[in-house]
Amino acid sequence: MNAIKRTVFTLIQPATLALIVLFWGTVPASLLDKAWVITAISVGTLVMVQALEFINERHASWRTNLREFLTDLFYVTLYFAVISTVETTLAEEPLAAAKHALGITTDWAMHLPFVAQVALALFVMEFGQYWLHRLMHNSFLWWTHAPHHHITQLNAAKGLVGNPLELFLVSLSVIALFDLPLNAVFCAYNLIGAVSAFAHANVRFDPPRWYAYLFTTVEAHSLHHTVGFAETRCNYANALILCDRLCGTFRPGEAAIVGQDERKRLSISQQFMFPFRPLMAMIKANTDKSASTPG
Ligand SMILES: [Zn+2]
Ligand SMILES: [Zn+2]
Repeated sequence: MNAIKRTVFTLIQPATLALIVLFWGTVPASLLDKAWVITAISVGTLVMVQALEFINERHASWRTNLREFLTDLFYVTLYFAVISTVETTLAEEPLAAAKHALGITTDWAMHLPFVAQVALALFVMEFGQYWLHRLMHNSFLWWTHAPHHHITQLNAAKGLVGNPLELFLVSLSVIALFDLPLNAVFCAYNLIGAVSAFAHANVRFDPPRWYAYLFTTVEAHSLHHTVGFAETRCNYANALILCDRLCGTFRPGEAAIVGQDERKRLSISQQFMFPFRPLMAMIKANTDKSASTPG
């Protein structure tokens, strides 16, 4: 790798996060209430990170192809057109209304500097996500999360590939309980999306050590996608790997071979139906039993 390329792939992750903070810290009020702005930044970041795969690929076996690209495109559309709207309607708005009705205030948060407000929002969202994700690997909720672990290669948008129920669950947070300016919350949301795209990308980054200490990298997240189920129980944080370091679940290393259950790739319909597998197996067993019972 030549010196310029090495510098670019060292700085591109922190520089992207800095640009996102700069944008939301100085965003004009006229753009703040436009829903398309946050979506445009999220999708723009995804496209940029995906394009890096063609400049500095990590593994040839993760190279995107038409089938993977179309699957990713389906899930990006599903997430931004449906899941995020459902989450706002069914979770964010009722939680904000409950906060108002109960008279909960965190007025102090409104007086923090912008960067501290973003850090608070990032930590609240990520710490909740960390525990939910950890629970998914240690309870019946695995049935909703397993499709994300059936992906057999990593690419920028793969963070959005999974069962819709799981995508809804992992987008939940208690951030609506905090009094924070909208631009700080949007900034944290865009930062999480950017780090998640970087952490799922088929790109060879070489980030500064402080970045890899705080934020989830492809190394850490690929290890979370490794083939053995027990080995996936580490590096749960979507963006803030600091959560794993604080809670003792961080593991160093990386994986090139990813995917659960003998690396069976699931189609979109199989990903949608996956949580119903135990129920379908039970119905089938009952049907088989009654068919074999002499009448
Ligand atoms: Zn997982
Ligand atoms: Zn993942």
